[in-house]
Amino acid sequence: MTLYSHSRISTFEQCKLKFKYKYIDKLKPEIKATVEAFMGSRVHDTLEKLYVDLKYQKNPTKEDLLEFLESEWKKQWTDEILIVKKEYAKENYLDMAKKFVSDYYNHYKPFDQATTIGTEIRVHIKLDEYGVYQLQGYIDRLDSKEEVYEVHDYKTASTLMTQEYADKDRQLALYAIAIKELYKDAKKVNLIWHYVAFDKEIISERTDEQLSELRAITIDAIKEIESCRDFPSKVSTLCGWCEFKPMCPEWKHQYKVEKEKKPEDEDGVKLVDEYSKLKLEESNIKHRLEELKDRIVSFGEKEEVNSVFGSEQRVKIWKKECDKFPKTTDPVFQKFVEIVKKLDLWNEFSRLDSFKLEKAFENNEFNSEIKDILKKFARKEKIERLYLGKK
Ligand code: SF4
Repeated sequence: MTLYSHSRISTFEQCKLKFKYKYIDKLKPEIKATVEAFMGSRVHDTLEKLYVDLKYQKNPTKEDLLEFLESEWKKQWTDEILIVKKEYAKENYLDMAKKFVSDYYNHYKPFDQATTIGTEIRVHIKLDEYGVYQLQGYIDRLDSKEEVYEVHDYKTASTLMTQEYADKDRQLALYAIAIKELYKDAKKVNLIWHYVAFDKEIISERTDEQLSELRAITIDAIKEIESCRDFPSKVSTLCGWCEFKPMCPEWKHQYKVEKEKKPEDEDGVKLVDEYSKLKLEESNIKHRLEELKDRIVSFGEKEEVNSVFGSEQRVKIWKKECDKFPKTTDPVFQKFVEIVKKLDLWNEFSRLDSFKLEKAFENNEFNSEIKDILKKFARKEKIERLYLGKK
């Protein structure tokens, strides 16, 4: 039985290829961590130390914590940590981390808002009654105020989560399931995110109905992972922070080119440069052809001729006024279809949308019975397309 986690499921949702690299092939990534993740870990360690010290009746000062943060930062930093935003240096991130801890300290001192039950608490979440589907997770800090429990999560992200997103968030809601199982006196479980970059708390909670719905949704997500056989890449802005980027087929070539002494001589670069140049010429030619067509038609009208002669070739101008029926985008299209059907013309003049059918077939939109019937008519075909875009 695989023990799942919120981040395992999220990785699958983000990019199936990344999931495969990380959890199936268990590949060791070239990029150790991104600076954002490193900074997040150091802030977590520092806030963990704060609450552990308090538990042992030691009251660290803000300076103690900042010293701890800086010394851990220096001890654990390696040059394999990736800084995506090249305009900033690691020192900028260290200063940010210090500000986060400092603001947090000033905000919550003397830290008597609630009783801390523990930090970095490992929880098991049983999603079904037989324990077939289970998750594990780590709660940054668990507090209680009598029968109200609080799941605290520290976030160092530079964007602030909205209340709407918090009310739908999966991770802390899953922890609420575990807390309700572990502590039977829990009348209420508050989910609290500390967005330390904004010195802000976002609070949410879930009803028992919402939690049982979440169990079912999470089981479905796990079932989807377990039945998955194809792990395609999914390019998004998150690729910039993916530790597998240098080996991913979407980006590998870029890394290779960056290492070349003369990138412009690399075979792939030469091919794409020529292809994009021709594509640009092609689009200019298409545009010019349209322009010439209009001018030849106008010329024919002016000269009252149906053929215009060049040195070697001639152009015949063909004109006809036709009746056009509504297209699918036309508001009266549905009504028109009904009339065509009533007139018993549908079978003879309608066309099957094979493209739409192929898409639905590929996306598993049919039940197995329909799929098996359609499968008999399907033949495998390799499609290769090139999409030109900015780097
Ligand atoms: S770089 Fe992007 S596409 Fe490639 S594995 Fe990572 S997330 Fe997926």
